[in-house]
Amino acid sequence: MIPLKTKEEIGRIRESSRIVAEVLRLVGAEIRPGITTLELDRLAEEYIRSCGGVPAFKGYGWTKSNLFPATLCTSVDAEVVHGIPSKRVLKEGEVLSVDVGVRRDGYYGDGAWSFPVGVVSPEKELLMRVTREALESGIAQATVGNRIHDISHAVQAHVEAHGFSVVRDLVGHGVGAKLHEEPSVPNFGEAGTGAKIQDGMTLAIEPMVNAGTWRVRVNPDGWTVVTADGRPSAHFEHTIAVIDGKPEILTQA
Ligand code: MG
Repeated sequence: MIPLKTKEEIGRIRESSRIVAEVLRLVGAEIRPGITTLELDRLAEEYIRSCGGVPAFKGYGWTKSNLFPATLCTSVDAEVVHGIPSKRVLKEGEVLSVDVGVRRDGYYGDGAWSFPVGVVSPEKELLMRVTREALESGIAQATVGNRIHDISHAVQAHVEAHGFSVVRDLVGHGVGAKLHEEPSVPNFGEAGTGAKIQDGMTLAIEPMVNAGTWRVRVNPDGWTVVTADGRPSAHFEHTIAVIDGKPEILTQA
């Protein structure tokens, strides 16, 4: 069952999503060579709590022995998603992907953005640009009359046209009263298939794009997903709502 939200519920998701957007803006402004991902994490958590929100990823997990320990996922270069903030010092030329979820008033928002640390290579610049554009192409398909895999197909087509690849193992998702709800929103698929898009759907659309192979593995920490070939990856995500037949981006500052 795909939960469809009332306007009032969307209002709450919009509020959590606004905090997400603000966190990404604040954190993004601090990213530079020399700062640690743990410092960024502290900044994010303080801000979220000052807004009456709760970091959605902290304490999240499937096995009680290995719950996610932080507010942000911070994934550097070949790390795709779910990197754990640490005393690691960011270096010039790296790509940092920041993912953050917020719960407030019982509803979630979820968003991610990849940032250059100082000046990055032309390949990394292109990878980030193409991933951001793929997100925009996917969102544009989130209209009543289309189906979920129209979003997926648009993302995949844009990415592959530039010679990059989409991660298959992880997907976008519905978001609302739970952080992860139905439907799954893969970043690959056949146009014209999947569930019908309807007013009241709230979706986290999140292309994860690799410069090389789409294959990934998980580090021994049980969280950090890395590219199998060690080449860089980028990740952009918005929470959107379908209202009056069209997508509205909620994680926009
Ligand atoms: Mg997500």
